[in-house]
Amino acid sequence: MRISLTTRLLVPLFSLIICIMATKASSQDTPEYDRISTSAGDVVMHFIGHGSLMFRLDTFAIFIDPVSSSGNYKNYPKADLILVTHEHSDHLDIKLIGELKKEGTLVFTNQKSTEQIGWAMAMMPGDRQEVNGIVIEAIPAYNIVNMRSPGQPFHPKGTGLGYILTIGGKRFYIAGDTENTPEMKALTNIEVAFLPMNLPYTMTPEMVADAAKAFKPGILYPYHYGETDTDLIVNLLKGSGTEVRIRNLK
Ligand code: ZN
Ligand code: ZN
Repeated sequence: MRISLTTRLLVPLFSLIICIMATKASSQDTPEYDRISTSAGDVVMHFIGHGSLMFRLDTFAIFIDPVSSSGNYKNYPKADLILVTHEHSDHLDIKLIGELKKEGTLVFTNQKSTEQIGWAMAMMPGDRQEVNGIVIEAIPAYNIVNMRSPGQPFHPKGTGLGYILTIGGKRFYIAGDTENTPEMKALTNIEVAFLPMNLPYTMTPEMVADAAKAFKPGILYPYHYGETDTDLIVNLLKGSGTEVRIRNLK
């Protein structure tokens, strides 16, 4: 009697656990996305993980820092455009770039990454490109205070990039690995900003808030945030006019 009662209680419990596990696995297979409307159509922004994003404008697929350790790429189309911010292994994955490549794929990167991807085109800070009606601007990305060792920043000025994509009149800023630089704080008219928030490599929530208060993006996505408590940035920007959206971008 006692055994059968236990069994009756345990079976539904196990089913529930299996059900929760299955839901979790499927949500990892299909990362979440947000949609931003522009005059050129909706930009669907997929949050793959860490510093890896994918934007879709109709069938045109743009991958930013595609890296297989950030998430699952099996449900994505091949790339029309790939942007790489810098050569660190959590941003540049040569093997995955090869897998995403199709005829006509364009890759823009910082100078150092072109040494590893022979067919990529280098951009320097301030450079502009236009592909499929999308304007791409390269913005400098670097550390001011956070150093690997004295005098050796994690990201020295003049090497890494962030990008602004202007799509259908709206400007999307993906900052790369950087701090709240004067160049970032001087940006204008940014609808959507992705800013990195993990120490020791990039910014504290306070630094992210300082930048956001300066250039006032419409929507801020902290990304590449590791174990940083995202409640901090939400609280720091309450009432600032910038909407903070937290997505699974550890
Ligand atoms: Zn880096
Ligand atoms: Zn990084």
